[in-house]
Amino acid sequence: MGAQQVAERFAELYGAEPEGVWAAPGRVNLIGEHTDYNDGFVMPFALPHQAIAAVSRRTDGILRLHSADIDGGGAQVTELRLDALAPETDREWTAYPAGVVWALREAGHAVTGADIHLASTVPTGAGLSSSAALEVVVALALNDLYELGLQRWRLARLCQRAENVYVGAPTGIMDQTASACCEPGHALFLDTRDLSQQQIPFDLAAEGLRLLVVDTQVKHAHSGGEYGKRRAGCEKGAALLGVDALRDIPYDGLDAALARLGDEEEVVRLVRHVVTEDERVERIVALLRAGDTRAIGPVLTAGHASLRDDFRISCPELDLVVDTALAHGALGARMTGGGFGGSAIVLTEATEVDTLTKTIEEAFAAAAFKAPRLFEAVPSAGAHRLN
Ligand code: ADP
Ligand code: MG
Repeated sequence: MGAQQVAERFAELYGAEPEGVWAAPGRVNLIGEHTDYNDGFVMPFALPHQAIAAVSRRTDGILRLHSADIDGGGAQVTELRLDALAPETDREWTAYPAGVVWALREAGHAVTGADIHLASTVPTGAGLSSSAALEVVVALALNDLYELGLQRWRLARLCQRAENVYVGAPTGIMDQTASACCEPGHALFLDTRDLSQQQIPFDLAAEGLRLLVVDTQVKHAHSGGEYGKRRAGCEKGAALLGVDALRDIPYDGLDAALARLGDEEEVVRLVRHVVTEDERVERIVALLRAGDTRAIGPVLTAGHASLRDDFRISCPELDLVVDTALAHGALGARMTGGGFGGSAIVLTEATEVDTLTKTIEEAFAAAAFKAPRLFEAVPSAGAHRLN
């Protein structure tokens, strides 16, 4: 799937060439899990998988939407009136692009309509942010066409607002920022408190390394409620410790903080994960800056142990990926994303990719788990115009 194919389908559906074609990627989070709602650090990088959108402006207050990936790509176009867009009224996929248009207009930007056709190679529901790719590609297209002049971080904020308020899904700022701001060969070190960001060199291929993404293809049903519980637990920890957010507990003050929490066993575990995870992000930033990419492996693995034992959001499928990979020579491995399913990442020497892939597939078969999907993640470009 490429720009030309998406533009051609647009012309078939809407009877004219699009004004332009844009792309926005999915992402994988290298390290920094469940830190975003604690004002902490995250470090995603963009996948080569992306949403591509062909877009033209309209002047009549109408938004027309079509996805090649819905209903077998049939000719069913959804038509919406901009003045009728309202939060949490749409339970379909169209809520993501419509939410972006709503958020732009609500922020005072004069968007008067659009025809949009899109197609995406980002796996959906695998924790790889297919939703952010969709939002960001639409936001960037409208920013360019309507000459809104919004900076990337600002587009990401509006996309987050679309997802939080219009779609009604509570997510942090990481996914949209990654899709909007990542650069090839780099991971994005993002401070979710002030949104300051730094591009950190992460060129795996140059060092003979690979990063495998293993999509377990499972999503355990209770994930939504568990997210809310973890978030509430973190807020309780911050309140008990008298700080705005757990970000404010310094790593070298962790033991003292935990001692103050006394017998709040659950809060102790949550606080320990968040504070140590922020420190792991900073450690990985330092290692990558020093060119010591192989040394991040054990830090990734320690992050998995923390999510499994302290935050308690892993599951048998994710643990099986990590344990199998480590037992067969991987440099490091961890679950990534919200937990209870989704994907894991495995850092490995390039020479070991085939063996690891086969071993992980065999371990899943032996455990009678659904077959996982594996692919190599090359740190890729953030959102951009294709033509
Ligand atoms: P994730 O972002 O981890 O993939 P989400 O549940 O946040 O999972 O977003 C997935 C949803 O995004 C899908 O259910 C669908 O509504 C929408 N979506 C993603 N990709 C596409 C696409 N190519 N076409 C239409 N809708 C899509
Ligand atoms: Mg999403």
